[in-house]
Amino acid sequence: MSELILKGIAAAPGIACGAAFVLDKQDFIVPPRAIMEKEIPIEIARFEEALIKTREEILTIQKRVNADLNDLHAQIFDAHLLILEDRTLIEEVIKRIQQDRLSAEYIFFEVLKKYIKIFSNIEDEYLRERVGDINDVGRRILKNLMDESKLHELDHLTEELIIVSHDLSPSNTASMYNKNILAFVTDIGGRTSHTAIMAKSLGVPAVVGLKEATLRINNQDCIIVDGRKGLVILDPSAQTKTSYKSEQDRILEFRDRYQELRDSPSETLDGKKIGLLANLELPAEIPTIQKQGANGIGLYRTEYFYMNRTDLPSEEEQYEAYKYVVQTIAPHPVTIRTLDLGGDKFISTLKIPQEMHPFFGSRAIQLCLTHPDIFKTQLSAILRASAHGDVRIMYPMITGPGEFRQANAILNDVKQALREKKVPHNEQLPVGVMIETPSAAMTADLLAREVNFFSIGTNDLIQYALAVDRVSEETAPLYEPGHPSILRLIKNTVEAAHKEKIKVGLCGEMCSEPVLALILLGLNLDEFSMSALSIPQIKKLIRSIRITDAQKLAEDVLQLSTGNEVEEVSRTRLQELAPHIISDMEKS
Ligand code: PEP
Ligand code: MG
Repeated sequence: MSELILKGIAAAPGIACGAAFVLDKQDFIVPPRAIMEKEIPIEIARFEEALIKTREEILTIQKRVNADLNDLHAQIFDAHLLILEDRTLIEEVIKRIQQDRLSAEYIFFEVLKKYIKIFSNIEDEYLRERVGDINDVGRRILKNLMDESKLHELDHLTEELIIVSHDLSPSNTASMYNKNILAFVTDIGGRTSHTAIMAKSLGVPAVVGLKEATLRINNQDCIIVDGRKGLVILDPSAQTKTSYKSEQDRILEFRDRYQELRDSPSETLDGKKIGLLANLELPAEIPTIQKQGANGIGLYRTEYFYMNRTDLPSEEEQYEAYKYVVQTIAPHPVTIRTLDLGGDKFISTLKIPQEMHPFFGSRAIQLCLTHPDIFKTQLSAILRASAHGDVRIMYPMITGPGEFRQANAILNDVKQALREKKVPHNEQLPVGVMIETPSAAMTADLLAREVNFFSIGTNDLIQYALAVDRVSEETAPLYEPGHPSILRLIKNTVEAAHKEKIKVGLCGEMCSEPVLALILLGLNLDEFSMSALSIPQIKKLIRSIRITDAQKLAEDVLQLSTGNEVEEVSRTRLQELAPHIISDMEKS
């Protein structure tokens, strides 16, 4: 058997070799879930929404097949659409949800199994063959009904596997923490999707945007995942396996060697100190963060706390979690970002209607301002945690001073309530904003007068400035961090911050890439926050260069016209200034 190389987008570094577990090719395990009487209409509505969504999916596939193949193939889907309209099946599901008071997915699965059994026993060959169609449509409906089903499958796994999936939501990726996962491979997704970011934080190699991975790879196939080059090798030869194994050992040894820098200062050759902090998604990452010698947490993505559960976290629960992080990271600071839901991060507890363009829908601070109870609960928990260490609050997706003031008005109410109850908290806790919309970058001068600090979120800033979806593999080549507009937005923000004598950091993925980080140093950022495993390499970069050389580079690249030219010039300059960083990049 000859090996097949699939090319995708490198999302998280590292190499893994193992057996594939193709999520979409698994049988569903649907546990019964009891519901209350008042939930019956919600479950029926969920079932109906899943039917509509499935119909839309089938129509899209039908259209594509029609265009790519011919009418005859596309007709297969007419049969699928008819199943979706089968009143007997639909009514049976609705009646049983009402009678049995169990979740829509469980009842639907039961009814589906019954249908499959009936059709499998039919003598007429034509009707018997419809089992395949029923199964196919049924699985689609189930998938739309229960994103979580994938997780139940994983709960039963004990062996080490490589997850292959069409897509993986950030919450699914987060729930795979500690589950013997060697690597992630997906058909869709971009470099800064939250799934990619989560994989990086978990230290698990990932390749996304492979387009046909689930089509080509079968369960138990042996695959190699090369997270540095964005490659997946199916059925590798013995020789390929051996060479990747030695590469893997070299990476591990290399990472260990980098640890030597843990306690050295993050300072350039000419004495400029740059804060190097870690991004945190799950408290379980803390040991890694400590091992890499971070100067604190520059971005605590609290939304993961709200995921993979059926209720909203209480104030007490949040307080305990934040307190734990703050006390463990002390004396270093912890910047807690308030809830940033929406975009590619959803929770089922907040019944947010599905939007055409989620990244432009209700998201982050806007969502918090329209759900003040949820926002207040979180703010109160953060304020209480501030009694235990250096806590800072950061609002996501701010577009200008108006939203900042609205959020702060709620914060002040919460402070007042704590004051009245004499609950300890830091009255002076710094409050900053993320600069991740072009609007915030363009109003940075106004914002800088009111806030205590900025943190530039380039993952979003790039998508909104360049009109490129950060989670799309199709437009990935257009997602250019070095684009002249991005450099100008960053420059504008840094200058505005420094004019008002406030600090400005950057917490997007961009700062963990040496070629881009060199430019950012030259643009005078005060600190970087990134996935912990990237810290040693960036520290080594900082310790290898003079800030004046980086500033000269920034000045030069600001004259260039395209992102490609910018990256090219920076790479050449890095090669001249610190050649070992370039050769390390190839090894790591
Ligand atoms: C960003 O947008 O750059 C950022 C750090 O926030 P997130 O990736 O969580 O959207
Ligand atoms: Mg963001």
